[in-house]
Amino acid sequence: MSQEPISFLDLKAQQKRIEPALRARLDAVLAHCQFVLGPEVRELEERLAAYCGASHCVAVSSGTDALQIAMMAEKIGPGCAVFLPAFTYTATAEVPLLLGATPVFVDVDPRTFQIDIAALEARIAAIRAAGTLRPAAIIGVDLFGQPADWPALRRIAGEAGLFLLDDCAQSFGGATNGRKLGREADATAISFFPSKPLGGYGDGGALLTDDSDRAALYRSLRSHGEGDTRYEVLRTGINGRIDTLQAAILLAKLDVFEEELHRREQIAAAYDRSLADVLDVPVRVPDSESAWAVYAVLLPDPARRDALQAALREAGVPTAIYYPRPLHLQPAYRAHHDGVSLPVSEDLAGRILALPIQPELTDAQVQRVIEAVRAALR
Ligand SMILES: *Cc1c(COP(=O)(O)O)cnc(C)c1O
Repeated sequence: MSQEPISFLDLKAQQKRIEPALRARLDAVLAHCQFVLGPEVRELEERLAAYCGASHCVAVSSGTDALQIAMMAEKIGPGCAVFLPAFTYTATAEVPLLLGATPVFVDVDPRTFQIDIAALEARIAAIRAAGTLRPAAIIGVDLFGQPADWPALRRIAGEAGLFLLDDCAQSFGGATNGRKLGREADATAISFFPSKPLGGYGDGGALLTDDSDRAALYRSLRSHGEGDTRYEVLRTGINGRIDTLQAAILLAKLDVFEEELHRREQIAAAYDRSLADVLDVPVRVPDSESAWAVYAVLLPDPARRDALQAALREAGVPTAIYYPRPLHLQPAYRAHHDGVSLPVSEDLAGRILALPIQPELTDAQVQRVIEAVRAALR
C-alpha cells in the first residue's frame, strides 16, 4: 500500500474533478467583467435559497461578515448579552465583541458537542437575575456538520424574546428532521472558506432567512448601508460583498455538492464501523444528517490523544484539533468571561482529534487511516 502522506484537504484533486465547469464559469466572468455583485452572485443566491428552502439568500464576503451583518441588523451592541457555545470557532464570539456586546459562553453537550440546552437556560436566567446586561440573542452553532438542538433553541429564544441566529458556517448541507439546515433560526449564516463542506477558493459567506425585511437590511448592510440608490446612505454598514469570481466558483462546486456530502457520509460510516471498538466515534444527533465538516473522535485523556496524533503523523496520516482551547480560556476573551466553569468544553479540548474526511479520499486511503489508528492504539 502506498505510504504517500495523505492530505487533510486536497484542493487540487477536487479542482481537477470539476475543472471544465469551473473554467467555463470563470471565463464567463472574465467576459462580462462585473466583478462585484455580478450576475453569478444572484444566481448563487437563488441556488442556495432553493437548496435549503429558504425564502431569501444574501451572499457576503465571509462567514464572519454574515454573522456580523445579522447582528448589526438587530442592533446588537453595548449592554446586550449574546449567548453562544464556548466550544466553537473564534468568529462566533468575535462578532458580538466587535459590536460592543458581551458574549456569554455556554457549555456544550459532552456527547454531541452542541450547545447544552439546560446550561443555556441557566445562563439566561442568571444574566437576567444579575440585571446588568439585556439578554438579546442566541447564536446556535451547528458544530462539525451536525445540527444544534433547534426545537429547544427556538423554544428558549421564543420564551425569552431573543434573536436566534444559526452559525451554520461548518454545516451547510446537513439536515435535521429531513430538512436541510438554513431555516432553523431567524437567520442562518454560512461560510465558503475553502475547508468548509461547500468551500470556495477564497473567502465568502451568505445569510439565509425567511424574513423579507431582514433580507433587505442584509443587502443594505453588506453595501455600506446603501438605500435604493447607491449614493444614499441609510445606515452604517460595511463592505461585506462577495466577489463575482467566488460566486462563479461556488456555482461549479454546487453541481457536485450532494455527491461530496454522500462521499463524506460513506467515509464517516467506514470509520464508525472500523473504529468504534477502539475509541469514541462521533455520536450522531438524532434525526439528522451531518455535513461532516469534521469527524472528531475522543480519546480517554490528553496524553493518549497527543500520542495518537504523533503516531498518525509518523504514518503519514494528518489530523487536526478543533479546538485546543475553548473560547472562554482564550487570551483575547478571558477578560470577557464571567468566570463560570465550563467543564465539558475544557475536557473536550484535551481529548478531541479530527481524522481526515475530505471527499477526495480514496477507499484505500480511508483504509490506511483506519489501520494506522488501530495500530497506534494496539
Ligand atoms: C469558519 C467559521 C466561521 C467563520 O467563517 P469565515 O468564512 O471563515 O469568516 C464562523 N463560525 C464557525 C463555527 C466557523 O467554523
